[in-house]
This record gives sequence, C-alpha cells and structure tokens, in this order.
Amino acid sequence: MNSRSAKEGFQTSKPNTIIGLLSTSSCLALAVVAGCASTESGGGDNEVSYFRKREARPTASIFSPLDLPTPNSVRSAAGAPGEDYWQQRADYVIKANLDTETGAVTAKETVTYTNNSPDPLKFIWIQLEQNIFRKDSLGSLTRPNASIAMNDSTTDGAVLESLTSSGSDLEYHVYDTLARIDLDTPIEPNGGTFEFDVAWHFNIPKRAFRRFGMEKVKQGTIYEIAQWFPAMAVYDDVHGWNTLPYMGSGEFYTNFGDYDVEITVPRSHIMAATGVLQNPEDVFTQTQLNRIAEARQSDDTVVIRTADEVKDPASRPAGDGPLTWHFKANDVRTFAWASSDAFIYDGCNLDGVFVQSVYPKEATPNWEQSTQMLRTSINGYNNRWFKYPYPEATNVNGPEGGMEYPMLIFCGSRKSERGLYGVTTHEIGHNWFPMTVNTDERRHAWMDEGFNTFINYYSTAEWFEGEKGRRGSAGGFAGGMTRPNQAPIMTHADKLPRFSLGMTQYAKTSVGLVLLREQVLGPERFDAAFREYIRRWAFKSPRPADFFRTMENVAGDDLAWFWRGWFMETDNLDQAVETVEQTQDEKTGQWVVTVPIFNLEDLVMPVTMKVTYEDASTEKVKLPVEIWYPSDRFEQTWRSDKKVDKVEIDPENVFPDIDRSNNIAYPAWNNYERRKQQRAREKEQQQRRGRRPGE
Ligand SMILES: [Zn+2]
Repeated sequence: MNSRSAKEGFQTSKPNTIIGLLSTSSCLALAVVAGCASTESGGGDNEVSYFRKREARPTASIFSPLDLPTPNSVRSAAGAPGEDYWQQRADYVIKANLDTETGAVTAKETVTYTNNSPDPLKFIWIQLEQNIFRKDSLGSLTRPNASIAMNDSTTDGAVLESLTSSGSDLEYHVYDTLARIDLDTPIEPNGGTFEFDVAWHFNIPKRAFRRFGMEKVKQGTIYEIAQWFPAMAVYDDVHGWNTLPYMGSGEFYTNFGDYDVEITVPRSHIMAATGVLQNPEDVFTQTQLNRIAEARQSDDTVVIRTADEVKDPASRPAGDGPLTWHFKANDVRTFAWASSDAFIYDGCNLDGVFVQSVYPKEATPNWEQSTQMLRTSINGYNNRWFKYPYPEATNVNGPEGGMEYPMLIFCGSRKSERGLYGVTTHEIGHNWFPMTVNTDERRHAWMDEGFNTFINYYSTAEWFEGEKGRRGSAGGFAGGMTRPNQAPIMTHADKLPRFSLGMTQYAKTSVGLVLLREQVLGPERFDAAFREYIRRWAFKSPRPADFFRTMENVAGDDLAWFWRGWFMETDNLDQAVETVEQTQDEKTGQWVVTVPIFNLEDLVMPVTMKVTYEDASTEKVKLPVEIWYPSDRFEQTWRSDKKVDKVEIDPENVFPDIDRSNNIAYPAWNNYERRKQQRAREKEQQQRRGRRPGE
C-alpha cells in the first residue's frame, strides 16, 4: 500500500479483491506451508460481493469489554474450572482384526459411558467418522470446501453389524458421520453409566487418505488406522451434545477414557499404537525383547529391528497364523494404530518415557534421527510448559502427511531433515494441545493448531541451533494480514474460506501469541499465565473465554483489545510517523521534541520507536497500547540536549505493520541540511576524482 500523508488525514483503504489464501489441509500444514505459496483464483471480482461479511463490533471500540459468556460454577470468572465442573467419560474395550487381503478392518467394542452431567440423558450421540468416505457424506458433497482429499475413492463408511445393550438391539438413526441412539430409560445424572456393544467393519479407502490410510512401500504395506471406531460424542455444559459433523477440516472433540484394545494382524507385521503393549513376549522375538529392554534404558537410539532384518522371517516370532497385539491406554481422548510388514523399529528413553519410531526403508536415512527428534521435542515442551503425561510416544512414517493421536503420531516427511523435524515437533506438540488440554477442534481449531504452532516456534531452536520456527514473526506476517477474504481466527474450521485454515488457525494464532509474549506482556508474565492455563485445564476442556480469562487473570492485564483485534476480527495494523517537530528552549538550550504518531488501521499495538540524534547516538522508546485509548493520534514529547536527526517506529520489524513506508520521519529542517550535506559530499567526490593519480 502507498504511504499516506497525515495532512490528508491518512485515509485508509482496504483491499477488496480475492486472490486466495495459503493452503493447508490438515495437521501436516506445518510441513507444507513453507513453500506452499499456492494462490488460487477464487473466481475473480464476482466473488467479492458474494463473500460472507463478518462484523464483529458494530458499536464497541476495540478497547470495549468483550462479550464473553457469563461465568458460573462450572467455568469461573477467573478462567478456571469451577467447583461444579464436570465432564463425561467413555471407556472402551475393543477387539479388531486387520484383513490385509481385502483391506478391511472388522471389530467389536464395548463402550462404558459415564454421565457426570447434572442431566438425565434420554438419547446419546455417537461418531461414525469413517462415514466421511461415503460418496454422499457432507465432506464429499462439499469438497473441496471441506478440504477432504478423497479423490475418487469412496467406501460404504462404517458398516454397523449390530448395536446392542445387554443383548437387546438399540434403536438408532445415522445422520452423516453421527448416529443418535434412543434409550428406553434415561442414563442417570451425576455418575450414571450406560454400557453398549457395537460390531462393525469398514474398508480402508484405497486411494484416499485423510488422517489415515495405507501405502505400498518396497518391503510391504503400511497401514495407519485412525478415526476408525464408533466413539461417544461429547456432551458438555456449553453446547449439550456436540453434533457438528466431521467434514474434513475441523478435527475432533472427544471424551477422555481408558482403552483396552486387542488387534490381530499378520504375523509379519510390527505394530505401533496409542497405549502400552501388554504382551510383548507374544509379538516380539527374544532378540527384540532384549533390544527393547536396552532401549528403555538408553538416551541414545537403539535399533530394535534393523532395515536388513525387515524381510528376514527370523525377525518375527516363529509359528503360523496372525498375532494379536494387546494395548492399554489410560485417560486418552482417542486411540489410533499403525501396522506394517515393512517397519524398521527403534527407541530410546526420556525420563521413563519410551520414545520410539517405526518407518520403512524408504524413510532412511532421515528417519534414523526421528526418535531423537521426538525426544528433543518432548524434552523441550516438558521444560517450558507441562510434563508429557504418558508413558510412551511413537513416531510413524506412512501415507499420512502429519496427524496426531495420543502417544502416537503420523509423519509423512521422508526427504528432508527440516521437514521431518518440523512435522515431528508439531505432531507431538499436539499431545499438549489437544490431547492433554482437550479442546473442541471443530469449533476452535486455533486452540490446538495455533497453540501448538506457537510452542513449535521455540522448539525449532532446539534441533536447529538458534533458529526459531517460522510462523512466529509478526513482521513477516504483515503481508498475510492484507490478504483479502480473511476470516477471524474464531471461525469454525469447516466454515473458513477455502485454503485459509493454515493461515488463520495455525500461523495467525502463533504469530499473535509470540506478539503477546514478546511485545505485550513479556516472557515472564506470559509464561506464568500460559503454564497456568495448561495446568488448570489439563485433562479438562477449556473454551476460548476460559483461555482469555486465565491469561488476563494470571498476567494481570486487560487484553480485550488483543483478543478482539487479533482473534475476533481481521483488521490490520499501520502505525505511522510523518514529521519530527523540535524547537530550542532559549532559557535552557534544550530541544523540545514532539513526534505525532498515528494509528491508521483498526488494530492497535504498543509502539516501539528508535530515536537517532545528530551525534548518531540512539535511544529506544516503548509506548504501551494504552496510548491509543482516547484517539488514533498520539503525541510523544520530550526534552533533549541533542537535536533529533531521525525517528523510526518498529525498527526491529516485530509488529505486523502493513505499510512500513510511513515508519520513518525526519525533522523538517533536516531535509534542508541533509540536501546541503549531500551537495557538499558530491562536490568533494568530484574534486577527488579530478585529482586522481596519473594526472
Ligand atoms: Zn496440527
């Protein structure tokens, strides 16, 4: 944008054409976005007038109090869980079989649902996420808005064979990725339980993968299985039943529970899963058991099954027929698994956490570092934020680009160390958000993707020494702020404009938190508040208001302007200076300096200003955001013994200022002096050239 003159009133203008936004499609966003400057025509000017307008504050100022939900005994005014906080629980016992001939998973489960709410429940909702792969699903029909990369591969979804309780059939109705089960007798409130049994099967889509799938590799096939079992929907104090469908972009909101899972796979396979393996002696050779024992004690990576052993039958237990792997996991929000005859397997120890990787030969040599990358990431998050709460963590290489599950992550990157570390540190970061702090990802993707991208910003420096991650620099983000067709961060993932998930939920949230930490609150205040947010809400489910209130309460600041400006609206920042006025006080000989500073757009931020004096000495001035309380024009005045030569605002480029051409100002008289000095220099140069040797 062009610079504007203060005398003209700094008329602001806003872009109104559509060119599309950065594209990211899932948790792999972090890995792909660096080079993902794919812009796409959104249909030209026509689309501008059709674009849904978002008006967040028709009457309030950016500093007005936010219209947050009224605090109550479940969620307090301080942003903490209240004395009556409750949440539901769902425990699962699952037995599943992977048929590698047909590519089908057949399974049975017993679900024990505990109703801790104060309400009797006459019906319950379950999630059938495999139904997204049906041709008639909302995800398929709205593609590509739903960003579900399904190509032409569709299945029958989750085929329910039976749904019973105590042996009697239950009445149920399937609506897209959800089903309502009607009950004869309501589930009692305050701790009543309901147990039911489901038998189902599904085919793994052949060409499509979305957070799971299968891939043929040189030495076999890799199966990554997730969103695969009928799971209880969430009933909570804010929405009652959470029945937003699974459309593709919005990930998950689930209950905590214990999982007892037995999975039967071909004998040639090695498995990885959420949970702790209960029967290692049944599924590993003695050599492997010895190496596992060694790995559990070792800071360095110990290879448990080498690349050369993958095709060697001696690397699997002797015998015929498939093997059943038995896993248990406590207090996790879902369960995923991977299985393959092509897996190399290694592991190491981190303070009692068994850190592991499984990957095919194609993934070497980069994946030989995966376990240490995982270890470094977990260690960093432990030290900075909150201790990893689970006994194991596994990184899996396969078809999915990047997706997180409790204790288990899928990372697709094979080719570059940078890509692999980026995806690994991101996906395992999700074990803090949302695996530990359990948020509603369908509505508030920023509370997991954005918070996670923020912690990734600092974890990058731990592998690539001294380098901070991308998606944290506000100066670098300014260009992104002016993209048209933006939606506020608070928008539900599936309701965002096309290809803007990565831009808003990941990048903008992360950049905002870095700004808040580095420029607004300072690391000490920010970290105390952010740690308290995690501590308060670990194994519970916070809402945006709980986050805002916790940050304000612990940091001790009114941040309504920040939440509104950064999270609820899409306005820009343009701070400007035009001139430096200075007059000499005849009595003292001092200079009285006045610099008018302008806020030209609707977003506000603190101001940093670098003053350069005539003797080349400099001074840094920091002004709080409160200078903008009464007006978008602020006069900074001070007395100085020296004349000012120049002022520059945001000299370190740490704010997302969309127009930096109006960030520097000189005293008016300086222009004359500067021209005079320039002429003198030019003359001198000419004279010097005239006296070159040789003449
Ligand atoms: Zn993610």
